[in-house]
Amino acid sequence: MTSPVRVRFAPSPTGTLHLGSARSALFNWLYARHFGEQGTYVLRIEDTDQERSTPENVDQALKVFRWLGLDWDEGPGVGGPHEPYFQSQRSDAYSRALEELFASGHAYRAFDTKEQLAADRAEAEAAKRPYVYVGAGRDLDPATSKARADAGEAFSVRFKVPTTGTTVVHDMVLGDTAFENALIGDFVVARADGSPLYNFANVVDDADMEITHVIRGNDHLNNTPKQILIYEALGKPVPAFAHLPMVLGPDGAKLSKRRHHTSNVEQLALAGYAPAAVRNGLALVGWSKDGETEYLASDDLIAAFDVTRVKKSAAQIDYKKLEWLNGEHLRALSVEEWVAGYDAWRTEWMPADAEFAAAADIIDGRAAAELVQEKVATFSEVPAYLSFLVEPFTFTDDAWARLEKTGEVGVTVLTHVTAALEALDAWELDSLEAALRGTCEALELKPGKVFSPIRFAATGRTIAPGLWESLHALGRERSLERLASARDRLSAAVAASVPQA
Ligand code: GLU
Repeated sequence: MTSPVRVRFAPSPTGTLHLGSARSALFNWLYARHFGEQGTYVLRIEDTDQERSTPENVDQALKVFRWLGLDWDEGPGVGGPHEPYFQSQRSDAYSRALEELFASGHAYRAFDTKEQLAADRAEAEAAKRPYVYVGAGRDLDPATSKARADAGEAFSVRFKVPTTGTTVVHDMVLGDTAFENALIGDFVVARADGSPLYNFANVVDDADMEITHVIRGNDHLNNTPKQILIYEALGKPVPAFAHLPMVLGPDGAKLSKRRHHTSNVEQLALAGYAPAAVRNGLALVGWSKDGETEYLASDDLIAAFDVTRVKKSAAQIDYKKLEWLNGEHLRALSVEEWVAGYDAWRTEWMPADAEFAAAADIIDGRAAAELVQEKVATFSEVPAYLSFLVEPFTFTDDAWARLEKTGEVGVTVLTHVTAALEALDAWELDSLEAALRGTCEALELKPGKVFSPIRFAATGRTIAPGLWESLHALGRERSLERLASARDRLSAAVAASVPQA
């Protein structure tokens, strides 16, 4: 039997969920789920930054996590044995731990002024040596220290870092990294009012929540030796660490809102991605099952995931592959699943000003699935595909230009097909298909030559569902009307055009 594995994702909800953070969340979730019953995935909200962690930001973050489908076993909305799971509600735990650090001599009040700190830093810079906090007050006797604090002198609480030796981070991805203690410097763990800083709160929570594996971005690697020292000072077991490579944009630059069209999960939700495809796509950033397989359903990801096989070096996200994967995932859904996903997108994410948004209300999800499930790579493409159903009918400029180009042939095709369709008894998919194929034979033209003008004429679009499906969805009357009027307009245009010499 394996021993229990407890991992956590600990975001600071300051707005949107960055794809790099989402990939960390995913790898934690995959790691926990890989261990089945033995694995627990905790969601903890690090909302100590009161200004940025507004209730709106927290709600939005939770909405996005829920959408991504990384269900958590303990955390907001779910509860668990280590409640509360919001740092803003855990100040008692931090006060207790801070008392312990004071009592064991691992923490002290540092009364440095801002000016002194700035001067020390400037001096180090001038001497071209790395700045290490000097720790002038680390040996102040506790009674004097308390008296100065009581007298109202400003201070912060610092951790007493050993001045010799090394602290080694054993990492499941990076291997061992040794940090010289003498270069770490006494770092701040809490403000004078007792409110904790990241390194301290994070360790107190991970220790309380019995986290066994800390899996996070390698931008935190420099924090890890400090955190290890805190665990040791508190007499708590040090968890295993796995630091993940940075997620870069396709251009190799750090993923950012400014440079990349998609840098956060919310944008993918808005763009009509399927959560399973996003999980699949993000898993491939820095990890792969066998160097080859790209399409992986979530169960396959869970079975195959192994954090020790994560790459060390920064990994690029490939948006084209992500979109392709999304199309594959959408096609692999059952019709019921597709409809559920599409309806969720339509009601919760579709921007009100999306192009052709109104088209999404014209037919229900099931009818939409029949028309476009095989065609679209994202749900956000659906309204454009359905826009041919909107009345009053109009051509897009593109569609008219392409119909116009079919010239005489187009007129012949439309004339013939209008008659063939008028003669149909039943307006069904198979009879429509037979009539259209019959037109190709009768005119001795290739399907491409015949179907394109009919598609442009009936839908007014260059992008539309399958041809017989489109005609079927339009119905007899509307289809015949559109074909006839397009033929008249096209033949007038042909007649008006200057004959080629
Ligand atoms: N709140 C921290 C962050 O979002 C957590 C880092 C960690 O996982 O330790 O970066």
